[in-house]
Amino acid sequence: MTSIQTAILTPDTDGLRIAADVLRRGGLVAFPTETVYGLGADARDDAAVASIYAAKGRPSFNPLIVHVRDIDAVSHYCEMTKQAQKLASAFWPGPLTLVLPLKEDVGISKLVTAGLKTLAVRIPDHSVGQGLLAAFEGPIAAPSANPSGRISPTTAAHVVAGLSGKIDAIVDGGACGVGVESTIVDCTQSVPTILRAGGIPAEALAACVG
Ligand code: AMP
Ligand code: MG
Repeated sequence: MTSIQTAILTPDTDGLRIAADVLRRGGLVAFPTETVYGLGADARDDAAVASIYAAKGRPSFNPLIVHVRDIDAVSHYCEMTKQAQKLASAFWPGPLTLVLPLKEDVGISKLVTAGLKTLAVRIPDHSVGQGLLAAFEGPIAAPSANPSGRISPTTAAHVVAGLSGKIDAIVDGGACGVGVESTIVDCTQSVPTILRAGGIPAEALAACVG
């Protein structure tokens, strides 16, 4: 892969406008969420999503989490099951990812889901993550912004160390608050199951869905 110039952007209106433009052109932007820094691309753009896998050295059969602004956006792309609605109202925005049935023909790149008929989706609880989603006005596919197999980044400096020269920009919004990944819950079956432990404890999830 040829090296590119990685711009460091400020987490203000100007920086977020530039970052959203990079996403619209099919580029890659790392940005902070409350969990870790994500490596974002337009989730509807096959080439952009392919470049996430390339930059991270991530196997293309390992699907990505899509970040959206609000529950309306989630419902646009996914079927909200009863259990999902309970979890969503209790924990979103926040460090919870729900795997939900993906609606047909909603434009999410098949590379995001690795061909699955389900989508992993979440609403981040971070002013910069939310600001970028608002400026971009679309779904952002974003795995952690580290080379595959390395520790997830919680500062812009970590992202620079791992991905500088391979991505277009990093929005530097300081250190991430939670510092661990989102908890992933599969809501496609009648009983939700935890696929990955993370920022929301299992007990809190169990108390919510009963
Ligand atoms: P990361 O991007 O490193 O936070 O990892 C995202 C995690 O979400 C991976 O472990 C994926 O396997 C998982 N994931 C993403 N999409 C799906 C899906 N549709 N069904 C099940 N797991 C998923
Ligand atoms: Mg990761």
